[in-house]
Amino acid sequence: MSDLRRLPSVDEVSKCEVVRAASDVHGRAKTIEAVRAELAAAREAMRHGAAVVDVDTLASGAAARVERETRPKLRAVHNLTGTVLHTNLGRAVLAEAAVEAATLAMRRAMALEFDLAGGKRGERDGLVRDLLCELTGAEDATVVNNNAAAVLLVLDTLAKRREAVVSRGELIEIGGAFRMPDIMARAGAKLVEVGTTNRTHAKDYEAAIGAKTGVVMKVHTSNYRIEGFTKEVGGRELATIAHARGVPLVNDLGSGTLVDLRAYGLGHEPTVAEAVAEGADLVTFSGDKLLGGPQAGFIVGRRELIARVNRNPLKRTLRVDKIRLAAIEATLALYRDPDRLAARLPTLRHLARPKAEIAAVAARLAAPVAAMVGPSFAVEVSDCSSQIGSGALPQKTIPSAGLAIRPSGKGGGKALADLAGRLRALPVPVVGRLDDGALILDLRCLDDEAGFLADLSALGAAP
Ligand SMILES: *Cc1c(COP(=O)(O)O)cnc(C)c1O
Repeated sequence: MSDLRRLPSVDEVSKCEVVRAASDVHGRAKTIEAVRAELAAAREAMRHGAAVVDVDTLASGAAARVERETRPKLRAVHNLTGTVLHTNLGRAVLAEAAVEAATLAMRRAMALEFDLAGGKRGERDGLVRDLLCELTGAEDATVVNNNAAAVLLVLDTLAKRREAVVSRGELIEIGGAFRMPDIMARAGAKLVEVGTTNRTHAKDYEAAIGAKTGVVMKVHTSNYRIEGFTKEVGGRELATIAHARGVPLVNDLGSGTLVDLRAYGLGHEPTVAEAVAEGADLVTFSGDKLLGGPQAGFIVGRRELIARVNRNPLKRTLRVDKIRLAAIEATLALYRDPDRLAARLPTLRHLARPKAEIAAVAARLAAPVAAMVGPSFAVEVSDCSSQIGSGALPQKTIPSAGLAIRPSGKGGGKALADLAGRLRALPVPVVGRLDDGALILDLRCLDDEAGFLADLSALGAAP
């Protein structure tokens, strides 16, 4: 008991320089709370036989505690997973132009729904409509919160209390519980499945389309491929079939790129312009997948159908705010200059980054990283495979390079998991991937080597 009384008081600890500095940053209330918590922890430890803790140790403990507890929950990380569009890490990293536009939109009043020429009320979607039409060849366009919302809104508009005809091979589930049959049910559309899992023919669609059909839907099988004995009806043929029966064709592209990825050494992913040219009446796609912008869902296509979509009361519940619209406009504008697109759009720059360039980064980082992880691990430059992610070209991997970290001793599985945990616990967490007894840091998405090493240097300070 007497020992416990030798612990410094809250007041004494609070007067220490580090605590006063923490209080300046995080506020008095939270800092005092941390001091009390630190004292309580010391008291508890002493009851179990620990020695008395001095005032400086308590002070730095309290400062670290308040720092930890007031840290934002949404943290920036180094994405070294090798998945460029990682849904759990926020998908696309935005272009500098988009960051600037969004920042301005946060700071200032914006002419969001205000017609500056006439001084009257304007239209929010009008801000990006022309760009979307220019880049996709569509007559009209509108924008909502994400592509899941775009699909829901389109089905609710065209197929409520009517039938939606879809191939069995395209009834997708994508991450985050987006299942096409469930979305249809929510939109009040009756799903009519045609064909079989591996083969759907023109005659299957023809037999299924009738007086109750509201829409024929084509869905890009973003995250899987059916291979072998397969048959699908292409967009152009399906448009002809639907139009001959007076029914609109909707093509949900998912990722929906605006450029031909073959020009960047990647596989071919259907472009929005191709889907429009094939005759789809509406095309839906995401803003934060291959397009490389903020989360958004785009609906482009025929004018009268877009007008119906915009008249749907649900549209109002799915609208995007000024910050995102600013980022969308700036991102789309980059596509007007294809020559400089890969230099300006991080998603495309990362996807197109040559392996040799990434291997050079790995060679430069190997020694400093080895020094920081310490002698219990071997660090070597290694070939690896990146993925696009977010359901684009699911089977296509991109040759990449990085660092493979392995425990130097035996029985290192636990040591490796511990290291991965310590990397995730850094002030700027480093997220790699564990693969076959190694922690792989794929360096495809690493832009700032010096910043990365500076962030990693906190590893030494970690317990
Ligand atoms: C990703 C995807 C969606 C959902 O898009 P979000 O932008 O994630 O809402 C819908 N359909 C397909 C085919 C997709 O690939």
